[in-house]
Amino acid sequence: MTLVELLKSKAFPKLKQEPNILILGLDNAGKTTLLNRLTNEKVGKETPTQGVNGKSIQCCGIKLNMYDLGGQKAIREYWEYYYDNVDALIYVIDANDEGRIEECNDSFQKLLIEEKLKNIPVLVYANKADLQTCLDPQQITEKLKLDDIKGRDWSIYSCSALKGTNVKDGIKWIFERIAEK
Ligand code: GDP
Repeated sequence: MTLVELLKSKAFPKLKQEPNILILGLDNAGKTTLLNRLTNEKVGKETPTQGVNGKSIQCCGIKLNMYDLGGQKAIREYWEYYYDNVDALIYVIDANDEGRIEECNDSFQKLLIEEKLKNIPVLVYANKADLQTCLDPQQITEKLKLDDIKGRDWSIYSCSALKGTNVKDGIKWIFERIAEK
């Protein structure tokens, strides 16, 4: 049983029909690893996504769409076509890459003002928490100005998609938000 199936069956039998969860982040953040972790595909063999890249997985009636926000601006502008009917957003960050945190913040701020993504809950995964040198959730909260977010639920979870640690709590948080509707 996958992590998504397990959480859905145990805690949220009344989850909205066919919820659509969008997973975004810069290339190399760990989105593919996270998606594979959630849906039981083999973890640890991912190479960073580059250019136009995305993946869609349907897992026990839940749609998980993953897209890479890195790369050229022109490519990035495509992603708005995938912003229809999204119920929740997962924003994955490589918390070990302080050098790209500004780029990460720029992309994130653009997402927050997307009309189609307005009001939907946002979960930030501070990924790669298994690495000693990574930024902690408080530092990321400040860099991404999370405390300034208005009009939507948000939360930040530190996790390691590679090791599988703390991934579950974030998904549970999302399911609680979707079930509330
Ligand atoms: P994507 O481009 O966002 O889809 O990123 P990938 O999932 O392809 O991961 C990029 C690289 O980061 C790969 O080498 C992964 O093995 C590695 N990676 C992903 N998640 C973690 C993590 O939690 N910890 C560590 N140490 N490495 C990770």
